Amino acid sequence: MKAIRLHGPKDARYEDVPDPKPGPDDVLVKVKAVAICGTDVELFDGTMFYITSGMAKYPFIPGHEWSGEVVEAGENAKADFKPGDAVVGECSIGCRKCKRCLAGNYHLCADRSETGLLKQPGGMAEYISYPRFFLHKVDGLSYEQAAFIEPTGIAVNPARKTRITPADRVAVMGPGPIGLFAVQVARAYGAKQVILVGGSDSRLKAGLELGADAVADYRKGDVGAQVREATGGEMVDAVIEAVGRKSVWPMIASIVAPGARVGMTGLFAGEICDVNFDPLVVQEISVLGCLGAPGMWPECISLHRKGLVRTDKIITHRMALSDFAEAVEISRTRRDGAIKVVLTP
Ligand SMILES: [Zn+2]
Ligand SMILES: [Zn+2]
Repeated sequence: MKAIRLHGPKDARYEDVPDPKPGPDDVLVKVKAVAICGTDVELFDGTMFYITSGMAKYPFIPGHEWSGEVVEAGENAKADFKPGDAVVGECSIGCRKCKRCLAGNYHLCADRSETGLLKQPGGMAEYISYPRFFLHKVDGLSYEQAAFIEPTGIAVNPARKTRITPADRVAVMGPGPIGLFAVQVARAYGAKQVILVGGSDSRLKAGLELGADAVADYRKGDVGAQVREATGGEMVDAVIEAVGRKSVWPMIASIVAPGARVGMTGLFAGEICDVNFDPLVVQEISVLGCLGAPGMWPECISLHRKGLVRTDKIITHRMALSDFAEAVEISRTRRDGAIKVVLTP
């Protein structure tokens, strides 16, 4: 089959690779849509933490935001999946035996795979073989929309960890794809007010169209003052961080109310934040790392089915899988107002 394989930094090849060989617990899926993520840009550049730390090694097939159609179910998977089913696969695949897996934290399993990142080949290919335990049916959604269940989960995880309720004012840092999903998830959780913080006209506009109540633009000066005005001096009770640059931390510190919870989803590609811990301690600010979306996939599928999370302002480009390298450049440079690029094998 044809696939995109990364052979090293800046070395992506569209080439023939061996067909996947599904085992009895696996399902063979024909990939229908796969989206480019900021993480794919970092994998392409060689700056992503798993590459720089040696956890992941080239060559591999990237792509963790994918959906597809079942071609064949292995012997043990036939009861749950049949040819023609529309499916999405989770990103993290745990061993299902260790202490963390048994507690539901399979995304932290020491022996885990991550699709398109660690061990498990990704969806930038014609076919993918996937373990049935981490596969979900998505009937009723388009393949394109289904490819966005994964990034929706990245927004649901911090919304859950920061325990957003209708009593909370929420700030979303970063109007990129994850931030734009986070705005919608915070609304679905009933947040009293959702403020999107960023520095891009088109993306902040998309955020307002997708349900943000207000925006704060760091190009227009002090974000703390803008949030103070938007909240009538209350500041925010929860923050979903989706930036991954050190400049985000002083902004977060300037907008939190005492007792606030901060869910961090960004990867900083090695950038180190200067953090003054004193205000964190005396205001009892919780800072929570959020990886993946363990156990949250059915909820994400439901959010899409109910129309509470949409992709229409987020998908800006559609290309062929063979155009991967160009799609990465479009994502990186945000050419033509790019937010999300979807590839079709
Ligand atoms: Zn991603
Ligand atoms: Zn495990």
